[in-house]
Amino acid sequence: MIPFGTYPTPLETAPRLAGALGLPELFVKRDDLIGLGAGGNKVRKLEHTCAEAVAAGATTLLTTGAPQSNHARLTAAAAARLGLDAVLVLRGRPPNDARGNVLLDHLLGATVVWADDPLREVGRQAAAVRERGGVPHVIPFGGSSPAAVQGYVACAAELLDQLPDLSHVVVAVGSGATMAGLVRGLGAERVIGVDVGAVPDPHTTVARLAGADAGSLDIDTGRVGAGYGTLTGEVARAVRLAARTEGLLLDPVYTGRALAGLAARARARAGGLGRTVLLHTGGLPGLFGHPSVAELA
Ligand SMILES: *Cc1c(COP(=O)(O)O)cnc(C)c1O
Repeated sequence: MIPFGTYPTPLETAPRLAGALGLPELFVKRDDLIGLGAGGNKVRKLEHTCAEAVAAGATTLLTTGAPQSNHARLTAAAAARLGLDAVLVLRGRPPNDARGNVLLDHLLGATVVWADDPLREVGRQAAAVRERGGVPHVIPFGGSSPAAVQGYVACAAELLDQLPDLSHVVVAVGSGATMAGLVRGLGAERVIGVDVGAVPDPHTTVARLAGADAGSLDIDTGRVGAGYGTLTGEVARAVRLAARTEGLLLDPVYTGRALAGLAARARARAGGLGRTVLLHTGGLPGLFGHPSVAELA
């Protein structure tokens, strides 16, 4: 493990947001404040995948993602910290103006490649690194490898130190390793996942990474709307609510969906949620790159 952050990350109370949701208690675990490259959950995962890369003698980190991938931005930041090159293969065509995460990818010195089929292209890019005499290390989509799960097993241990009698942790589910690590560390019954629509079958994806039974996982698949990255009305309301009750900034793709899922859960079974923790997994740069950002305010 190569530490990129200072731990533990803060656990804050959110009494005004709790009141608005009708929850007895709500805490926010601030993994958005992890101190590398504007922070977020991908840092804890990269601490483990980068250790594997360095052990293998890598010269170049490569990964794939959506245009506004937080994981790609943090892979670029980790590469900078380690003195390695970074190649980011992002889905689609180059945008007219580099905004949000794409702006930061360039600022962090990464090579950004656009492709309709990122998985194929990343193989090509890895071969090109090898031809130049380098050693490529490809990090999977979202940084979710078996090693990366350890990052969120460690976060679960931190949470149990900070709040031993927590009842539930609510987390956005993308490529799955974040929820998987929490399930390993806390038990499936204490983790509520909220799917963002990044993978076709989140239950199977998380179960495989967690080594758990898919049927034991609690994942809300009702907050995706028209698909990954689209802004829904309830998510816009959730992002506004966090901002206006706590000065807490969420993003429309991940953490806003997590809060929308929590709000729906609170409405459906007020009383069932006790000392609840919302995991703030970062993603703020994506807000500035989101096509519907103007609708939020
Ligand atoms: C990637 C991401 C997630 C989801 O984490 P996974 O481990 O991919 O499921 C949640 N929030 C933010 C801000 C992310 O960038």
